[in-house]
Amino acid sequence: MKTTIVSPKIYTYGSLVLGGILRDRGHAVSITRDLSSEGDLTLLSLFSTSQLLDPEIRELASRAPRIYVGGPVGLVPEIVLGELEVDAVVVGEGEEVVADLVEGGPSEEISGLAFLRDGVVVKTDPIPVSDLDHVMPLIPDDLRSQSVRGANVYIETHRGCLGGCTFCQVPRFFGRSIRSRSLENILAEVREMKRRGVTRVAVSGGTGSLFGYGKEVNKEAFITLLKGLAEILGPKNLSVPDMRVDFVDEEILEAVRRYTVGWVFFGIESGSPGILRAMKKGTTPEKSLEAVELAHQSGVKVGGSFIVGYPGEMEEDYQATLDFMEEAMLEDVFASVAEPIPGTPLAKIALDLPREDNPLYREHAGEYRALRISEAEARCFNLMLTGMSCKPVPRIVDDATYSAFLQEVRTQGRDVRRVMGLLEKYKDRIV
Ligand code: SF4
Repeated sequence: MKTTIVSPKIYTYGSLVLGGILRDRGHAVSITRDLSSEGDLTLLSLFSTSQLLDPEIRELASRAPRIYVGGPVGLVPEIVLGELEVDAVVVGEGEEVVADLVEGGPSEEISGLAFLRDGVVVKTDPIPVSDLDHVMPLIPDDLRSQSVRGANVYIETHRGCLGGCTFCQVPRFFGRSIRSRSLENILAEVREMKRRGVTRVAVSGGTGSLFGYGKEVNKEAFITLLKGLAEILGPKNLSVPDMRVDFVDEEILEAVRRYTVGWVFFGIESGSPGILRAMKKGTTPEKSLEAVELAHQSGVKVGGSFIVGYPGEMEEDYQATLDFMEEAMLEDVFASVAEPIPGTPLAKIALDLPREDNPLYREHAGEYRALRISEAEARCFNLMLTGMSCKPVPRIVDDATYSAFLQEVRTQGRDVRRVMGLLEKYKDRIV
């Protein structure tokens, strides 16, 4: 039997690992980003809710003779099983599930699975993987030509996050304690990837510096990890994008400067203390500013991500975010419209919010009214434009950049409204 793992558009790290597990169990398995592929059995890796509405993905699901879905969308399998014609959904981590599922089909004997029986969802509880060290991933030949924010691949060094941000699926999917891989397991994998032509690697995992976390941050483990990876790849080919502002200090930032491309990305989210509290972010604008300044003093460039249109965000909260950006002088800005990912607390908050109070459905009546976009999109658009003028070296917004930003916020607004539509459709079954 031929098993095909389909990871639409980009190879997700999880799909490579599951491919490695099946290969080592003796299965004929291949991995592809191409949605037109055929196979006796398809494993489909999905990371975003809006993928459930993608016509090509829906067509693949209805055409495949047998198909199972995994990835973060499995957090709320009722939606996946309602939207796609699939045979089962992996609801948690896939390593312990995949071989039994492929070899025996869906069954209540398998932990962490959901499937339909007589139209009713049967669901078994997932069990978190206790040992994250795993076999060598399945490395496709074209992994080396993939580019995700500049990296050929994002690798996982640990799972879980100590944070409990309402909008984030990481603690819901992976838990709030930290499980780390061993250094040897990670380095062996990266050596093999390099041998197969991969040059640029990014470390994923919510907050990079939580690698090796025991009862407290293990700086030594994190710094040793970066040093080891840089020795294999060269520092210009390694990035550790995501960090929490309260888990960095001089030593960590010095290691980032020395062993990586020299950037960090902080999830700043908002300049409003009230919105940060509502998000359960566990940080303050002051803490974020301190971290940005510390990074700059250490010679590390900073990208900041911001969320606009969070339920309850008033004009003055949004203004506080703009003020923050002017003070912080970030080298890069990522702005997004708050997305109520199914399975997160924000999904319930957004469902409880009357549409007339949701800036996603309110037409913008200010400076950008001629563009006919929602208030949430207008804030996002304006934040992107402001981000360009608040860089240490301000950038001119030319016509092409203006159009690209506008297109981006329109797409975001459309996708988030689609997610809201799904939440409303399945409200009775998921809340
Ligand atoms: S947003 Fe970042 S800090 Fe917050 S829960 Fe997610 S991974 Fe953790």
